Amino acid sequence: MPVTDKALPIDPVAFAAELIRCPSVTPAEGGALDLLEERLTALGFTCHRLPFEEPGEDRVDNLYARIGTAAPNLCFAGHTDVVPPGNASDWQVGPFEGTVKDGVIWGRGAADMKGSIAAFAAAAAAYIKAQGTEAGSISFLITGDEEGPAVNGTVKMLDWLDRHNEQIDHCVVGEPTNPHELGEMIKIGRRGSVNMVITAQGKQGHVAYPHLADNPVPHLVAALAALDALELDQGTEHFQPSNLEITTVDVANEATNVIPATARARINIRFNDRHTGQSLIDLVKNTVSAVAAKRDATLTVSAKISGESFVTQPGPFVDLIARSVEHVLGRAPELSTTGGTSDARFIKNHCPVLEFGLVGETMHKVDERVPAHDVEQLTAIYRRLIDGYFAEAAAFAAEKQSRG
Ligand SMILES: [Zn+2]
Repeated sequence: MPVTDKALPIDPVAFAAELIRCPSVTPAEGGALDLLEERLTALGFTCHRLPFEEPGEDRVDNLYARIGTAAPNLCFAGHTDVVPPGNASDWQVGPFEGTVKDGVIWGRGAADMKGSIAAFAAAAAAYIKAQGTEAGSISFLITGDEEGPAVNGTVKMLDWLDRHNEQIDHCVVGEPTNPHELGEMIKIGRRGSVNMVITAQGKQGHVAYPHLADNPVPHLVAALAALDALELDQGTEHFQPSNLEITTVDVANEATNVIPATARARINIRFNDRHTGQSLIDLVKNTVSAVAAKRDATLTVSAKISGESFVTQPGPFVDLIARSVEHVLGRAPELSTTGGTSDARFIKNHCPVLEFGLVGETMHKVDERVPAHDVEQLTAIYRRLIDGYFAEAAAFAAEKQSRG
């Protein structure tokens, strides 16, 4: 079976290097979206640039591109923005030189995630050249705001799609999902995340006259001990156990002879599909209230949900990408929900979404790089995915319908 297609109208390795040469550190577009738009337009895609802004946040440019009008619409989602390179002189090669040397593509964004964008563009180009767009549509949902606050990126693009009756039916996100080797891991979901602040309000006073004061620190410590003792769950079919971490305890009391007035702690919970952000907020509030009642203390909780957990249940779409990996690499990938959050947390409200990309070992680090061979193999995997998807287009269109 051929791993590389000599007839590709886009060379994924050269294209990845070209994208790396665009210095697109969030929120700068850096020429990366222009370059992608130019290539996709040449292939026949209809491109929409979608810059968004709002007060207090940087203006961010984004790109939605689609070829074909038929359903289903297979979408590739990703980001052209990159994290800053840090001290450029610490790098073996310039972070934005786009150097390909001894079979390795070097530079900021090589793994996260210009390499996978180039691979999907090359795979789509080859498919379109061979098969056209009769069986369905291919689209790109590319933001310039994934590594930043993610306010003017994917969320607003998805709203734009809704407003324009633009439907995406299944989505693959090109984040670097493999810990060490290509083909190790597909992400089929992510844990949720919620942050909370616990505040103990006491009464300031002299340490020598404790009956005239109310020390908030023991109240807070008791509340934290109760929270730390909670067992949230034992894990679920697709998830590891949920985890509550106390991330900081702050009293900021400089004096040795003063009982402080307030004490504060922060917790973060990474949670699985047994919980929602709100159910955990309720649990923490109830636990803290019980401590407060017992101690006659004033303890309050404020909370912010960063994202809910989600999982794309194993089924035809999960099978298809797993089989595509196995076909090209001869290994069965693990289906995982580990790691931090990604833009998949927004896309899952619109259609089934999976994540599969390059090896993430060097992402966000000095000397970010990927083997050129990995980008070629990933192109072959994406091509297999596209072929398989449109070969069963009717079934995939029906799967989306049945989900409502
Ligand atoms: Zn990324």
